[in-house]
Amino acid sequence: MILADCHVHSAFSDDCETPVEQMIETAIAQGKKYFYLTDHQDFDYPVMDDGVTFQLAQEPYVRRMEELKYQYKDKIDIRIGVELGLMAHIKDKTEAYAKAYDYDFIIGSSHMVNGVDPYYPAYYADKNEYQAYEQYFLSILDNVKAYDCYHVYGHLDYIMRYVPNQTKPYDPMAYGDIFREILKTIIDNGKGIEVNTGSLYKGFDFPHPHAAILKLYKDLGGELITIGSDAHKPQHYGYGFDRAEAVLRQCGFDSYTVFVGGKPQQLKF
Ligand SMILES: [Zn+2]
Ligand SMILES: [Zn+2]
Repeated sequence: MILADCHVHSAFSDDCETPVEQMIETAIAQGKKYFYLTDHQDFDYPVMDDGVTFQLAQEPYVRRMEELKYQYKDKIDIRIGVELGLMAHIKDKTEAYAKAYDYDFIIGSSHMVNGVDPYYPAYYADKNEYQAYEQYFLSILDNVKAYDCYHVYGHLDYIMRYVPNQTKPYDPMAYGDIFREILKTIIDNGKGIEVNTGSLYKGFDFPHPHAAILKLYKDLGGELITIGSDAHKPQHYGYGFDRAEAVLRQCGFDSYTVFVGGKPQQLKF
């Protein structure tokens, strides 16, 4: 069994209503060894009609998690993380936020390209499908070259969840040169990637990133790979991890990673 779900949200995140205690109890019920919380902080997130801004007050968040870590210490090993939205122009404040607390684990993610979230139709208004994907992946390349504050890059092909035309699967190798450079930079900088099973409960038939990207990461010498559900609801905690393990094994991995005190530990399947 995979001992940790490394990508989990709670009501500390603007887009989630599940109390963190409910997520912790779910992890205990599933027999997990670790509980990771990785709530959202996205600087410069635009104010939309839904009022979601993804601002995470750092001090109350970590203080509450430290209380819970102590409270649950005999039941589960709580590890305090955060998911930071990365963009080139917010690098200084994002790096400063990351350094202001000694997180066990930081996911760096691309939720926006030039200030627009591909979750919203506005992102696609002035691009064809190829450009929509390409600009998203190029922004990741900029981020991995610029940033140091993250441990793994989250959901590398997040955009595929939201592109308007879902009638055909996207071909990651159409952007193979960009992915090669992204993954080489991640490996050279001592960072990792994640397998995110959020796509499985959003109706896709594979965890992401796409297996072709995982295979490429393996071929380039990548070893650090966390597994996360991106759960915002208890029923999605640890979702599809058997599937994630099967895909990783097919891609040649025999272990996965957890980060403790910011240091990677490899666990065998
Ligand atoms: Zn995310
Ligand atoms: Zn997330």
